[in-house]
Amino acid sequence: MSIFQNSLPSALIKFMKKKILLHACCAPCTAGVWNQLKDDFEVTLFWYNPNIFPKAEHDRRLNELLNFCDQKNIRIMVGDYNWVEEHAYWLETAKGLEDEPEKGKRCEACYKMRLEAVAAVAAQANDHHDGEFDFFGAELSISPHKNSEMINEIGNNIAEEFGINFFKADFKKNDGFKKGAQIFKKLNLYRQDYCGCEFSQTKK
Ligand code: SF4
Repeated sequence: MSIFQNSLPSALIKFMKKKILLHACCAPCTAGVWNQLKDDFEVTLFWYNPNIFPKAEHDRRLNELLNFCDQKNIRIMVGDYNWVEEHAYWLETAKGLEDEPEKGKRCEACYKMRLEAVAAVAAQANDHHDGEFDFFGAELSISPHKNSEMINEIGNNIAEEFGINFFKADFKKNDGFKKGAQIFKKLNLYRQDYCGCEFSQTKK
């Protein structure tokens, strides 16, 4: 927290902070990104990851994230979807891209699917609550296996479509990933050993 903010009442600090709806993919990535944003943003997380396979792994990552949010008092919205149906939609989206390498065209489609979901929810919230979120964004770029430029380009295109600002970022920069790793190790958070979809699982 800045010295300037230190001298202000917490209610005023909260009022001054920009509000962001941030796509969350798992607890370890969230821990690192939340640590980078928490002093300057009022962060609300959004969970929508039907790409994660199998369902047990999807649920395990979500539960670990919910526990982390409970511990840190972070607001989270969980997408209201049926994993079986939504995963079938994901497989349809990824058709023909199964053998793409990580950071390739399948990942591009995956980032797009998830970013569209968070932008739609942020835009809808803004329509109903008169400016609830200043930005939507994603924590995906903290991973060294994710293409930040691609994520930012997709985010900017979606921003135009939904009429809400995208928070451009590369959270892995300035040792962001390394610092995040120290946090999740300290908190003993469950960390998966593959990105999420069945295609990344077979390549681990
Ligand atoms: S490797 Fe990860 S980002 Fe790429 S398509 Fe699979 S789940 Fe999505």
